[in-house]
Amino acid sequence: MKIYNTLSKKKEEFVPLEEGKVKMYVCGPTVYNFIHIGNARPMIVFDTVRRYLEYKGYDVNYVSNFTDVDDKIIKKANEEGVTAQEISERYIAECKKDMEMMNVKPATTHPLATQEIPGMIEMIQELIDKGYAYEVNGTVYFRTRKFGPYGKLSHKNLDDLRSGNRSLLVSGEDEKEDPLDFVLWKPKKEGEPAWQSPWGEGRPGWHIECSVMSKKYLGAQIDIHAGGEDLVFPHHENEIAQSEACNGREFAKYWMHNAFLNIDNKKMSKSLGNFFTVREISEKYDLQVLRFFMLNAHYRSPLNFSAELMQSSKSSLDRIVTAADNLKHLMENAKDQGMTESEVAHYDASEEYVKKFEEAMDDDFNTADAISAIFELVKYLNTHTDADNSREYLKKCLERLKTLCDILGLVIEKKEDLLDADVEALIAERQQARKEKNFARADEIRAELLEKGIILEDTREGVKWRRA
Ligand code: AMP
Ligand code: ZN
Repeated sequence: MKIYNTLSKKKEEFVPLEEGKVKMYVCGPTVYNFIHIGNARPMIVFDTVRRYLEYKGYDVNYVSNFTDVDDKIIKKANEEGVTAQEISERYIAECKKDMEMMNVKPATTHPLATQEIPGMIEMIQELIDKGYAYEVNGTVYFRTRKFGPYGKLSHKNLDDLRSGNRSLLVSGEDEKEDPLDFVLWKPKKEGEPAWQSPWGEGRPGWHIECSVMSKKYLGAQIDIHAGGEDLVFPHHENEIAQSEACNGREFAKYWMHNAFLNIDNKKMSKSLGNFFTVREISEKYDLQVLRFFMLNAHYRSPLNFSAELMQSSKSSLDRIVTAADNLKHLMENAKDQGMTESEVAHYDASEEYVKKFEEAMDDDFNTADAISAIFELVKYLNTHTDADNSREYLKKCLERLKTLCDILGLVIEKKEDLLDADVEALIAERQQARKEKNFARADEIRAELLEKGIILEDTREGVKWRRA
C-alpha cells in the first residue's frame, strides 16, 4: 500500500511502526460554529483511510482533537454574552451529530485542548529547559533557528519567509528573536479564559495542543498525521519542530493532506463567507450523497462544489442502492439451496472487482477509481443475478457489494422505518404492560407496530414478529 507523504513529496510504501497497528492523528476543527462542508472533507477522507486500514486488518488508534480554546471561540462567546466553554460544548455536540449523519466513525479518542493544559505546560517547560524556547513578558516563543530541520515539511525557502515575516511583524511581536518564532504560551487578556503557568496566567498557542495530545494518546512517534493542506504551514511545520525538539525523535512517518473543497474555484471558508454548513446540506440531501461526492474525487485534488455535481452524485449513489435493493428482493423469494457450480464460478469471477477496488485504494487511497470498481461490480451483479438464483449466492453477492461500500462509509441499504432493535424494545414493553395487566397499553403497542407494517403473533414459544 502506498501513501503520498508530504514530507518526501513522493508516494511511499506504508510500513507501520509496529506490525498490525496504526497510530493516526487528524487535526480536528475549531469549534465556534456549525462545521462547513470544507471541514467535512478531511473528516470523510481520513475516516475512509481509517476504514480501509481496518479492512486490511490493522488495529487503528485514531485520535482527532477539538480545538476548544481560540480567539474565534472567545469572540463568539462575547457576542452571545456566554462563556467560551458554552460555545465550544454546543458546537462539539453539533459537530458529533454531523459526523454521525455523514457516517464518520467517532475517533478512538477525541481530546479537548482545554483538558490537556497541564501536559502543554510540561512540554513548553521542557522546550525551555532544552533551549528550544524562551519567555518574554509572559509570552513563550519557540526558537525556530535552533531547530535545524525547520521547514522540512512545507519545503519553503526560510530566508524568503523570514524577510516576508519581518516586514509583517506587528507591534508587540518585535520582542521575538526571529520573525519565524511562534507562540507556545500567551499571556491572559481581559475577559479571556486563562490558566496558571510558570510564566503567569495565560493560554497555550494552537500548535502546542496537537503535539501534546498526539504524544499523550499515541506516543512520541506516530504513523500518520493528517489534516487539510492549509495546515502544512505553519501548523504542522510547527508541530514537527515542537515534538521533535522535545522528544528527540521523528514525530510522524507519513504526513497526509487533503486538498481544498472550493466553491466557484475559491477555497470554501468561514472567513470568506462562501460556505455551506453540513447541516444546511443535510436539509437538501441525504449526507451519504455528500460523502459520495467527496470520495468521487481523489483527496489530493481540489474539488469544486456545485449543485450539478451533487445531483449527479445522488443518481450515481442511487444506482448502487437500487442494485443492493434488487438483490435483497431476489433473496426474499429465492430458492433455499446451495450454490450451483455456475453460481460459484460467477461469484469467483466477481472477485476481479474487489481486486480492482483494492488496487485503487492501495494506490494512495484512490477512492475515485475504487468507486469505478464498485460500478463495475454493480454492472456485473445486475447481469449475473436473477429470480432463479439460490439465496446463498444472492446473499454472498450482496455482502460483497456491501463490504466495498462500507469501506468508503457508504450505507447502501434503504433505511427501514423501524430498526429491528426498536421493534424488540416495543415488544418487550408490551410484554411488561401485559404482565402489569395494562392491556390498553399492550393493544396500543400492537396497533402502533401494525401501522408500521410489523405483525405480531403470540405463540407458545413467545411473541414472534414479521414485516408485512
Ligand atoms: P479549522 O476549523 O479551520 O481548523 O479546520 C478544520 C479542518 O478542516 C482542517 O483540517 C482544515 O484544513 C480543513 N478545512 C478547512 N476548510 C477546508 C476546505 N475548504 N476544504 C478542505 N478542507 C478544509
Ligand atoms: Zn493540529
